[in-house]
Amino acid sequence: MKDKKHLAWIAQEKRKSTFHSVDWFLLVNALFSLYLLLQRIGAYPSLTHFLRSAPAVVGVMLMAAVTYTILRLLRPHSEKAAWWILNACVTILALCWCGVFHHLIAINSVYLVYPLLIGLIFASLIPFYLSPLLLSLFSAPILMMAIAENIFFRGAVSLANIFSYGLMLFLIYSAKRMLEKWFMLAVEREKENKQLIERLGKLANRDPLTGLANRRYFSNYFDSVFARESEAQDGFAVILLDVDFFKKYNDHYGHQLGDECLIRLAECFDSCVRRSQDLVARYGGEEFIILLPKSDRAEATAVAERIKAQVAAIAIPHEKSDVGPWVTVSQGIALWRTGVGREQLVEMADKALYQAKANGRNGYMLAD
Ligand code: GH3
Ligand code: MG
Ligand code: MG
Repeated sequence: MKDKKHLAWIAQEKRKSTFHSVDWFLLVNALFSLYLLLQRIGAYPSLTHFLRSAPAVVGVMLMAAVTYTILRLLRPHSEKAAWWILNACVTILALCWCGVFHHLIAINSVYLVYPLLIGLIFASLIPFYLSPLLLSLFSAPILMMAIAENIFFRGAVSLANIFSYGLMLFLIYSAKRMLEKWFMLAVEREKENKQLIERLGKLANRDPLTGLANRRYFSNYFDSVFARESEAQDGFAVILLDVDFFKKYNDHYGHQLGDECLIRLAECFDSCVRRSQDLVARYGGEEFIILLPKSDRAEATAVAERIKAQVAAIAIPHEKSDVGPWVTVSQGIALWRTGVGREQLVEMADKALYQAKANGRNGYMLAD
C-alpha cells in the first residue's frame, strides 16, 4: 500500500519536473524554426514564397505557441488533461519537423538536417528524460523519417550510416538513464529532508513523556487563538488540570509507575476533547492545560465533566490518595471576556484550580 503511494508520488514528481522544463523546449523549437527561416530566406524570392513552399516550418512555430498557451490555460484546472494534451502536441510537433526535414532533403539541403535533428533530439532529452512516452513520441518519428529518407529517397545506406544511428540511440538511452538516476537521487534526498524536518518539528513541539503538545507549542497556539478570538469577540476557555496527591503516588508506587500514570491520564484527557481546534498540552510536571477555542461556559464545563467521568472510569489505583482509592484530578476553568489579558486568563484558571483543591479535589471550579 505504502509502495503504491510512493510510486504515485514519484510519478507526480516526474510529471511536475517535465512540465517545469517544457516551456524551455517549446522555445527551443521556435528558435530552431526561426533559424531555418533566417537561413533559407535568401534562397527564395520572398518570405511568402518560402512559407508556401515550407509550411511545416510555420507549423512548428504555431505548434510551439499553441502548446504553450493551452498548457498555461489548462494546467491550473486539470494536470491530467494538460498531460495528455502535451503528448498530443508533442506528436504533432514531431510530425511538423518530419515535414521540415523532408522539404530540406527534397531541396538538397541535407547538410542542414543532421545538425538540427541531433540538436532537437538532445534538447528533447532535457524535458522528457523522465517520460519514455514523450521522448519516443518526439524523437521516434523524426529519427524514422530521417532513416527512411536516407534509404528510399537518397539511397544512402552504408555501414557508417547505420552505425551513426545506432550511436545516436545509444547516446539517447544512456543519457536518459543517467539523468533519471540523478533525478531519483534528488527526489529521495528531498523526501528524507522533509521527513527529518517534520520529525524535528514534532520533537520541538511534543512532550516526550506523554506525546501531547508541550508548553512551547501551547504558548504559540494560545497566542494565535487569543489574537483571533479576542478580535472577533468570540468566547473561548482554558482549563488547567492538576493530578491530586501525585507526590504521594510517586512516593508509594515509584517514579516509573508515576510516569505511566501521567501517560494514561494524558491519553484520557486527549480523548475528552472532540474538535480538531481544541488543544490538550502538558503544562509542566503533573499539570496539564486545555484550550477550547470558540467555547462558552456550557461547552467548557461539559469537557471538565467528561474528564472527571473518564478519569473515574479508567480507575488508576492510588492507595495513598486522601480523596479515594483511585487517581483523581482537580480542574480550574477560566472563560475569556473582553478586557481580560492572555496571562490574566491563565491566572484566573490557576486560582479556580486552587479553589477546586481547597473544595476537596476531584472536581472543577469556574473562575469568576
Ligand atoms: P496536590 O494534590 O496538591 O496537587 O498535591 P501533589 O502531590 O499532586 O502536588 P505536588 O506539587 O506536591 O507534587 C507534584 C509531584 O509530581 C511531585 C513530582 O515529583 C511529581 N512529578 C512532576 N513531574 C513528574 C514526572 O514527569 N514524572 C513523575 N513520575 N512525577 C512527576
Ligand atoms: Mg501541581
Ligand atoms: Mg498535584
